[in-house]
Amino acid sequence: MYIMVVNCGSSSLKFQLIAVPSEEVIAKGMVDRIGQIKAAQFLYATNGTQHAPGAISARNHTEAINYVLDALTSGATAVLRAKEEIAAFGHRVVHGGEQFTASVIITDAVLRCIEECCALAPLHNPANLAGIRACQQALPAVPNIAVFDTAFHQSMPPQAYHYALPYEYYQRDRIRRYGFHGTSHRYVTQTFAALMKQPARAVNLVTCHLGNGSSLTAVLQGHSVDTSMGFTPLQGVIMGTRCGDIDPAVVFHLMTNDGLSAETINAVLNKKSGLLGFTGISSDMRDVQTAAAQGNQRALLALDMWAYGIAKYIAAYVAILPRTDAIIFTAGIGENSGAARALICAKAPGLGLALDADANAGRGAARQISAPGSRIPVWVIPTNEELEIARETYELIA
Ligand code: ADP
Repeated sequence: MYIMVVNCGSSSLKFQLIAVPSEEVIAKGMVDRIGQIKAAQFLYATNGTQHAPGAISARNHTEAINYVLDALTSGATAVLRAKEEIAAFGHRVVHGGEQFTASVIITDAVLRCIEECCALAPLHNPANLAGIRACQQALPAVPNIAVFDTAFHQSMPPQAYHYALPYEYYQRDRIRRYGFHGTSHRYVTQTFAALMKQPARAVNLVTCHLGNGSSLTAVLQGHSVDTSMGFTPLQGVIMGTRCGDIDPAVVFHLMTNDGLSAETINAVLNKKSGLLGFTGISSDMRDVQTAAAQGNQRALLALDMWAYGIAKYIAAYVAILPRTDAIIFTAGIGENSGAARALICAKAPGLGLALDADANAGRGAARQISAPGSRIPVWVIPTNEELEIARETYELIA
């Protein structure tokens, strides 16, 4: 049986075809620049072989998914005998508001709820909806499942998710902390529990998803009880281009003092801040590390600020958990940069974290990277959001 995992942006469609229950990736790829006539790019791989059908004409997500389904079922690149071998589509949906606490089979009522959440994620949910509708059109008999970035965090208690704004802003505008990257935080939680041969409800963790976007989560008995991203992914730690936590009064100062519009400030805080804005070099951690190694003082300071901010969140989450079984690093930076992990641990001396240099320098597999003397075990667990979406989709249709 095959699950097609679909992740749509406004002009892109990423997919992975995953066999279940073997969890083998049969094919994966993306269509990019959807909407630009004859400029859409289609790239995919089967069994480790890259295919590059190149420029195609995909005016919308429906045409894009049809290209993908045709490539998977016909010609030299075929991996399926028929499109109907796909048992379900599993869609990444960014925002599920307060309605969705878990993944769901998509019905008309679910579609209406996802539409209602467009107000909360105006850049993402409309694209996710376009992807769902495209798959419904392409294969009407195949079920579609929504897996939400926010769902894992719906277990947060009110003390963690409320902002101290006038209460009607919560009631009227649904302003509260939602949290994101839930699929990743859930995946590493489940993976850690499985490695410990424990049920997820037995583990308490601080999970650190550190990529272009970054968030940390406090996991109590397998459930998210706090997370660093908020109403939007702008809150929390310093990211590639997002500023993370700042005094909100900075916004009004920029408006009244510098005459910047709300739109400009929104773009600055989301796209021109973080590592990129502070260093003026790059949003990419590798570039910032290279510049720091060459003695660039602002890059060095940016690394210190980045690691210090993350260390403070880890310390706060360790403090609110009755016991922490592990601190887990994942995503692009969390999985690949031993130097970044070591810097974070060094910024929290009160936690008594000690890394094993060899284990921390390694790459790839899930592993403990702390030394025996560490007061809290530290782990690296590579995330796999597509696999988590496939698993949750399979669970719902099996
Ligand atoms: P996204 O949030 O877009 O999914 P990723 O999880 O792929 O991003 O993370 C991208 C980040 O990971 C970039 O900042 C990149 O520099 C960083 N990264 C990837 N490999 C390394 C590495 N070997 N050392 C340091 N940073 C790395």
